[in-house]
Amino acid sequence: MKSIFKLMACGLAFGLTACNSNQNQSMEDKALSMADLDTTVSASADFYAYATGGWQKNNPLPNDKSRYGSFDILAEETDKKVKDLIQELANKKNEENSVEWKIATLYNLGMDEAKLNADGISPIKPMLDEIDAMTDKAQIVDMVAKMHHQGVSAFFGLFGTSDPANSDLNIPWYYQSGLGLANKEYYTDKGEREDLIRQQYVEHIGKMFALIGYSEEDAKAAAKNVFEIEDQLANVSMGSVEERDPFKTTNKMTVEEMSAKSPNFDIAKYLELQGITVKENINVCQPLFLAGVSDIIAKQSLDNLKQYLKWNVVNSSASYLNEDLNKQNFEFYGKTLSGVPVQQDRWKRVVRVVNGNLGECVGEIFVQKYFPPEAKERMVTLVENLRSAFGERIKNLDWMSEETKAKALEKLAAITVKIGYPDKWKDYSKLLLKEDSYYANVVRCNEFEFDDMVSKIGKPVDKTEWGMTPQTVNAYYNPSTNEICFPAGILQPPFFYMDADDAVNYGAIGVVIGHEMTHGFDDQGRNFDKDGNLACWWTEEDAAKFTERAKVLIDRYSAIVVLDTVHANGELSLGENIADYGGLKISFDAFKKASEGKKQPTINGFTPEQRFYLSYAKVWANNIRDEEIIRRTKEDVHSLGKWRVNGQLIGIDDFHKAFGIKEGDAMYIPESEWAKIW
Ligand SMILES: [Zn+2]
Repeated sequence: MKSIFKLMACGLAFGLTACNSNQNQSMEDKALSMADLDTTVSASADFYAYATGGWQKNNPLPNDKSRYGSFDILAEETDKKVKDLIQELANKKNEENSVEWKIATLYNLGMDEAKLNADGISPIKPMLDEIDAMTDKAQIVDMVAKMHHQGVSAFFGLFGTSDPANSDLNIPWYYQSGLGLANKEYYTDKGEREDLIRQQYVEHIGKMFALIGYSEEDAKAAAKNVFEIEDQLANVSMGSVEERDPFKTTNKMTVEEMSAKSPNFDIAKYLELQGITVKENINVCQPLFLAGVSDIIAKQSLDNLKQYLKWNVVNSSASYLNEDLNKQNFEFYGKTLSGVPVQQDRWKRVVRVVNGNLGECVGEIFVQKYFPPEAKERMVTLVENLRSAFGERIKNLDWMSEETKAKALEKLAAITVKIGYPDKWKDYSKLLLKEDSYYANVVRCNEFEFDDMVSKIGKPVDKTEWGMTPQTVNAYYNPSTNEICFPAGILQPPFFYMDADDAVNYGAIGVVIGHEMTHGFDDQGRNFDKDGNLACWWTEEDAAKFTERAKVLIDRYSAIVVLDTVHANGELSLGENIADYGGLKISFDAFKKASEGKKQPTINGFTPEQRFYLSYAKVWANNIRDEEIIRRTKEDVHSLGKWRVNGQLIGIDDFHKAFGIKEGDAMYIPESEWAKIW
């Protein structure tokens, strides 16, 4: 330990190449810098602090961040690359409504603060006036249809995606929505902290009403009314944990059945206005909510409902309008909820909007410049090694019947893999932008997406489409297509190194690949078959054993205290925790297999096995604000970085072996508490 400590101190002060240790010739190691460690902490007491403590000291939280981790740094570096690309286009003379022109126009309007301030609320004025002019509750249907088409939330959401029972067909889905806070729990959870957030939220709504011209008194009254409606919506909403159950959110209805549940909101007319012609096989995710919205509309006055709709227009558009609205919007959603002192530079926000609205346009240019074809080849090999390691693990499971194993192996073999960027790019030619206002163009982008989505309802699912843009620093598993996807954005350090040792790549991107594959077999994903249909392919006994094993992770995570008296939510994060567990086990096996017969280097005193786990921890190195800890614990299905590391590794024997961790150490729990799922 001592020599490592010396190395670390050296690394901090002079850079690694300048120092030597007694035992190992120090070498340049960009992938795992000794400066990232804190060897004053023992690996067996708190591995996260040991592996990332130096990183945390050297990377303090910037003022405009709620969390700052190696993951976030990569995302920001990628945003910078995108910004450079966009600026290059913005400086050129582009043909009107060419892809380049669209990107440049949206970006330039977003950056033009003087124009945004001069325009004030005029971009949303017509819609606010239209709401004010309503004289009858029957008009709410038309208004909500128009708002949804423009990307403004209200009451519920409507979208088209694959039928849970027939993954080849796109059908309409009705989903609960319309809350200004992230989920039901913000409205229903008891406690001082919760009461305070609700009070601050009502104040925020009032301030926003004042900014669109309400008198102080009217603004306060309107805020109270809006909150009351949202509170009622929350009461008929499904809870976040329940929402994760695909059987609970699958409820097929005909338009007639929906109408019977919604006497005060003409849902048939709504669907017609949106151009949805199918009359049956609509998935109503929350039937109680459908009925609840209708009740609320009956009980609330037209004036209150108008205020609710206007609030949704203002809340959805604030970040595309003048500085006053923008700032107040940040005050609540940034400062109050996440604890961020200073709003991000405008360019960062605008790049995100361009990425969000013209994602594949930008992505096509991004990959030409930044994605080496060799990276794709390396990834294909890694993915196949992970797939075969997962297969071996399934075959060797001592708790699963041969019958279920055979189905699991079939599903594993059927997973399709998307790497880098799509083979076929989205066609944006029907999207026409104008040089009038930032917000008007965001609305045009939303309308384009909505129309595109509706046009696919009743048609076969196009499985070549991507659910993320290539420049996204993330990855996903989609249960209905049984596919895993790794955009170009994540195929960069600290996830993926073209020239690092295997240990580092398997500990980082390898675990990510294993994580996404395991999602196909977590508590949600296991309910979908190899073709992506919601179907029970497990024997009853195996399903019961799975649930019993998963419960170990629920209990373990629910016992974790994330801040003062606040506990992690082991039920909400179960799927992600199973995926992390699977990812760690599968990738370690794949790493050992890949290393057979190859001498893996010991670098800076660390064995390949140790480097695997250090690399995993580095991905999750971060600093985070207390408010953000609370917010993420309430909203995010992922565990916090620290617990993705310590919460998993305490129950992983290969990790214990690698670092000589023994019973009685803080990083060790008894074997009876290991998850042992996959
Ligand atoms: Zn995940």
